[in-house]
Amino acid sequence: MEKERVKCLIVGSGPAGYTAAIYTSRANLSPVLYEGLQPGGQLTTTSEIENFPGYPEGIGGFDIMEDIKTQAERFGADIRAGYVESIDMSVRPFKAVIDGAKEIEADTVIIATGASAKYLGLEDEKKYSGMGVSACATCDGFFYRKKVVAVVGGGDTACEEAMYLSSLAKEVYMIVRKDYLRASQVMQDRVLNKENIHVLFNTNTVGLFGENGVEGAHLVKFKGTPQEEQLDIAIDGFFLAIGHKPNTDFLNGQIALDEAGYIITEGASTKTNIPGVFAAGDVADPHYRQAISAAGMGCRAAMDAERYLADNGLK
Ligand code: NDP
Repeated sequence: MEKERVKCLIVGSGPAGYTAAIYTSRANLSPVLYEGLQPGGQLTTTSEIENFPGYPEGIGGFDIMEDIKTQAERFGADIRAGYVESIDMSVRPFKAVIDGAKEIEADTVIIATGASAKYLGLEDEKKYSGMGVSACATCDGFFYRKKVVAVVGGGDTACEEAMYLSSLAKEVYMIVRKDYLRASQVMQDRVLNKENIHVLFNTNTVGLFGENGVEGAHLVKFKGTPQEEQLDIAIDGFFLAIGHKPNTDFLNGQIALDEAGYIITEGASTKTNIPGVFAAGDVADPHYRQAISAAGMGCRAAMDAERYLADNGLK
């Protein structure tokens, strides 16, 4: 297998990974970054970013990630397509296997692999995968012009997806399991004031139906109470927006995670329980999960990695 030795390996290409690449390349660490399965990360599937400082008119999710990547490359960061399959953290330097074809030996590793969309766990989600079930409105919304769709969830993501879909689809249902929306007030106001969005509170999805794709959803209102009521809605598309799962499977249990699966970092630092391995962005942040906070954490991980290399005579 082809081998290569680096001072700093960055895994993941969202705002955290690319920002870590800017800082480590400016610190002359010649970082190598592998982009993973979704180059640019979750933001590339978002239509408009309105809250990243420096863009008073907002910017497209794909465009901002291209900008941050270009900025990192300007300082010499080596950004590569490829998937890090595993990292052996029991040896020094660490040994990472890329696409089963290459081994990278790294003195430090920054994990910035983000998080992936969660599903409800219904058999029907698998059955209708690619046939009406999606976890990305900006990717797939186009197929539902003038149709009827449902979005599951009551957070900011669900509201954003519902707003986006409401500009394409004829009608949008939001299926919310509680009697309130968890989203920020501004997003709640937008959704509740949009005439073609219908919020179904206290409602759970128990199944989907349709001959050659999704034609409707089986819902239950007030589940488990005396007022429990079953209803079906006719829809053409079913969008999940119920949160995300941190992407840590490739670590094979070598790094300490909290009960929700996020990498645990030490105090205000980005240090994991393995010296020389740092974590940044949504994979290690159950609280803020914003592009700007991920970018900030990427900066901190880069500085922590630089200090670790200096302290251990590896710089
Ligand atoms: P959240 O965790 O905030 O919301 C998840 C939603 O899905 C909740 O309404 C939750 O319901 C619901 N849910 C979870 N599991 C299920 C289930 N099994 N069945 C039905 N409903 C379920 O996730 P988001 O992805 O919306 O947001 C994550 C973070 O990113 C938040 O901090 C958010 O503020 C932020 N964000 C910010 C944006 C912005 O500022 N532009 C845009 C998008 C996200 P319940 O309330 O009952 O738990």
